[in-house]
Amino acid sequence: MKIHEYQAKDLFRRYNVPVPEGKVAFSVEEAKKIAGELGGFPVVVKAQIHAGGRGKGGGVKLAASLEETETLAEQILGMTLVTHQTGPEGKLVQKLLVEAGQKIERELYLGLLVDRATASVVIMASQDGGMDIEQVAEKTPERIIKVYVDPLMGIQGYQIREVGFGLGLPSAAMKSFAGLLSNLYKLFVAYDSSMVEINPLILTQDNAVLALDAKVDFDSNALYRHKDLLELRDLDEEDPLEVEASKFNLNYINLDGNVGNIVNGAGLAMATMDIIKNAGATPANFMDVGGGASAEQVENALRIILADQKVKAVLINIFGGILRCDIFAQGVVDAAKKTGINIPVVVRMEGTNVEQGKKILADAGLDLISARDLADAAEKIAVAVAN
Ligand code: GDP
Ligand code: MN
Repeated sequence: MKIHEYQAKDLFRRYNVPVPEGKVAFSVEEAKKIAGELGGFPVVVKAQIHAGGRGKGGGVKLAASLEETETLAEQILGMTLVTHQTGPEGKLVQKLLVEAGQKIERELYLGLLVDRATASVVIMASQDGGMDIEQVAEKTPERIIKVYVDPLMGIQGYQIREVGFGLGLPSAAMKSFAGLLSNLYKLFVAYDSSMVEINPLILTQDNAVLALDAKVDFDSNALYRHKDLLELRDLDEEDPLEVEASKFNLNYINLDGNVGNIVNGAGLAMATMDIIKNAGATPANFMDVGGGASAEQVENALRIILADQKVKAVLINIFGGILRCDIFAQGVVDAAKKTGINIPVVVRMEGTNVEQGKKILADAGLDLISARDLADAAEKIAVAVAN
């Protein structure tokens, strides 16, 4: 689960990771009020969206006066910000962070990630912080240092010094940096984070380090242990159909193609997407209703996929095991009656109670296309979207 920069910075403050003074604003008026309270200029006006690259897209600007704060807030609030992470459609800016402008001596990069290969927390750091870290990673990977922390041992003093020296910090800044990194590590572990990133981490003229930007991603599977984080979720930043699917515990990811598909089991879902691709079509989603789905879940899965405007046909591929075919068929019939099916739907069903399932579908008099096997299903779906 992602959160906004202002929320990440609130969390940083609680863990004594230094950040600039600032607050979130939901209106131009609020932005002006916060700028006034900060008691000095410049202030920085920052678009709050769940994507990076805001600076380059025009979502981070310095204001030298209250009037300029107002102008910039008017400009950025309500704009559709396009960055390399938002995709061409961009993201609507509904919140701003207004903070005290900092004098920057150097811009550095600092990140913490879970490294699955070594089962450790990897600290990544670079002297080339700022806006182009992706390019640094691609073109000069040797300029990114990596230090692996054993989660059972925790972060050690020598590892902090290794990162600090690697960043070329002056010795006068080491103490400030050691405090920041050990506190950041504590936060990372305490909240089951999958990623914490500070880009840029800045060195100030008086040899202190400060998080100028803050990005935190939590392991969604661990959220049950952190109820306080749930209120930080911002549904405006998420795909509406994915939000809807999450209410019914459906494993759903919205994609670009036009063939909707409903499958039980993640492996079968991947295979089904491959088959759709092989047949020359493109999947519009990943939808795993799960091994033990109820008729209600199946109904909601179909309703959500049919609500997706880009879906031109649906492939239902079910292997009845724990989820029996008759239960599944009932879900399809219920959804069809409520929503009405106005696009081709191909059904391939196998497994437990398949005969009862087929009978339920046949008796319902729905306009479904039945497939003998997977190859047949793929062929029929390709024909359906080609028309
Ligand atoms: P991002 O582009 O989404 O990663 O947004 P950042 O929060 O990293 O801001 C982008 C850039 O704006 C930073 O790399 C800085 O160069 C600049 N910036 C942000 N805050 C300040 C500030 O307080 N003072 C100055 N001089 N520049 C800032
Ligand atoms: Mn940044």
